[in-house]
Amino acid sequence: MPKITFQLPPQMAPSGLKLGLCLALLGANNNISQQPAWAKPARNAAVQADLIITNAKIYTSAQPPWQSALAIHNGQIAQVGSNEEALKLAGPATKIFDAKAKLIMAGFHDSHVHLAEGGAELLQCRLNSAKSRDDVLALLQKWKSENPSGRWILAAGLPLPAIAREPLDCHILDQVSAERPILVYAEDGHSAWLNSKALQLAKVTSKTKTTCGGIIELDSTGEPSGCLREGALALAQKVLPVLSLKDRSAALAKAINLANSFGITSAQEAHANNEVITAYYDLAKHNRLNLKVVAALHTGTMTPVAYKQIEAAAEKYSKYSRLSAHSAKIFADGVIESHTAALLEPYSDQAKNNNKKQSLNFSPDELKVMVKELAKRGFQIHIHAIGDGAVRAALDALEAAPDGGDLRHQIAHLQLVAPADLKRFAALNVTANCQAAWAYQDPYIKDLTAPLLGRERMARVYPFNSLKQAGARLAAGSDWTVSTLNPLEAMQTAVTRQAPKQNNVGTTEPPLNAAEALELSDIAQAYTTGGAYVNHSEKQTGSLEVGKCADLVMLDKNIFELPKSEIASAKVLLTLIDGKTVYKDSNLSF
Ligand SMILES: [Zn+2]
Repeated sequence: MPKITFQLPPQMAPSGLKLGLCLALLGANNNISQQPAWAKPARNAAVQADLIITNAKIYTSAQPPWQSALAIHNGQIAQVGSNEEALKLAGPATKIFDAKAKLIMAGFHDSHVHLAEGGAELLQCRLNSAKSRDDVLALLQKWKSENPSGRWILAAGLPLPAIAREPLDCHILDQVSAERPILVYAEDGHSAWLNSKALQLAKVTSKTKTTCGGIIELDSTGEPSGCLREGALALAQKVLPVLSLKDRSAALAKAINLANSFGITSAQEAHANNEVITAYYDLAKHNRLNLKVVAALHTGTMTPVAYKQIEAAAEKYSKYSRLSAHSAKIFADGVIESHTAALLEPYSDQAKNNNKKQSLNFSPDELKVMVKELAKRGFQIHIHAIGDGAVRAALDALEAAPDGGDLRHQIAHLQLVAPADLKRFAALNVTANCQAAWAYQDPYIKDLTAPLLGRERMARVYPFNSLKQAGARLAAGSDWTVSTLNPLEAMQTAVTRQAPKQNNVGTTEPPLNAAEALELSDIAQAYTTGGAYVNHSEKQTGSLEVGKCADLVMLDKNIFELPKSEIASAKVLLTLIDGKTVYKDSNLSF
């Protein structure tokens, strides 16, 4: 399941995206403090709690790991310990809640997520359930008839296995509508299909050249087939409708509500261009941001002006509590199933005389310069790297960059890592940002990836335990909407290397590289303390300790006592941020 969202969905595409991925749309500042605004020194414990939770199974993510009660005052944890210890802080106004042995743990940190674009996608035709090309067409038809008034038909979440045998092209999409333009995004966000009307509006012809790299696929007659990949997507994005700030903020707020319902209290927004960061900023400004967010700002081909812009943006968008923009996102490569990931050795399915292996979006030297310049300006670098070639280039670039300021760089996805590079994560203090929900045998892995990597490399995909054993610090993220936003599903897959749910014939595939399974405590730490570390907020979040923020989640089952294959059956009952309820199950009396 190599899934990476990297293009913005249509509505979130920056206006004037003529420059598309090629442009640095955002910027930052010189004297960047890496500490987010919420990471201020803890106050002294209060004498009278606002809330005391008793009789709980509290997993603290600290030492000692298990406690039974906690007290909250002014949004902070004033006591964690026994019932007696916590109840010492009770006063006349204190609310006391008996948790009846429910599990409470630190709120989850999703360290790689696309909530703004995901929120916008919720407004579009969703294709994630499609199993075949006919399913795709039926879903598009249904959406079209339910949404007769708009002009564009925008769809997202197309699973590539659904069209592996019967490819999509503009003529097939014309069957849905020849009059209304149609754009369909692949689930991984790295490709899109357009109908003839959309190709016409985007002015894509057999003679069109992309200025940002990428591929305009041609059919057997030499005409555009309708499929655009990677940087070529910018050609379509420039003609797509753009949502107003009000609509973008509303869509983002909806996505954050969903995240809260899964126990997520902090996140790293993994690709924040202007449209994305302004939606977060709008919510923060109006005190409506129910999430602690570090945004990884968009970078493209960097020029002196672009560096100035990204610096200015980091300063501008880090003013309010709960939002910091001191991370910068670099896409080092694409995805394996599209042959756009950078591999050290050739793809297995290509003839020897045409064995493309290197598909870095930037040359290793360009990458080094970008990383160095961004690090010099105080940015944490968040690098998308799927193939072992991209991972190596990313590590080489980070090794050459200054990190005197404890910038805490991270590399996300890590589908294939050369064994020789595993130890470099710890040596260079680079966090391995794992998308654990991808590590099971689904059609992406079996049908699309295995033939391209061959047996030896397939036995090493998603080497999360090898990274752990080699001393790497782990963080974890969903990459939603590429994969589930529910951390408990990802945790189950991390420990089982199997799908969190049975397939439609009621079975589960064997584990994918079982030796790479993590312990539950490892992936739980990645979702709590690991995420707090990459967001520079470990003094305030990530564990339940006195003086830290009361960011926590209560589950209906104790995942540490469940069989591994049932972890995802646990449900979130309550999510608190700074002691305030941001999600509550309707059946919970709290
Ligand atoms: Zn992503």
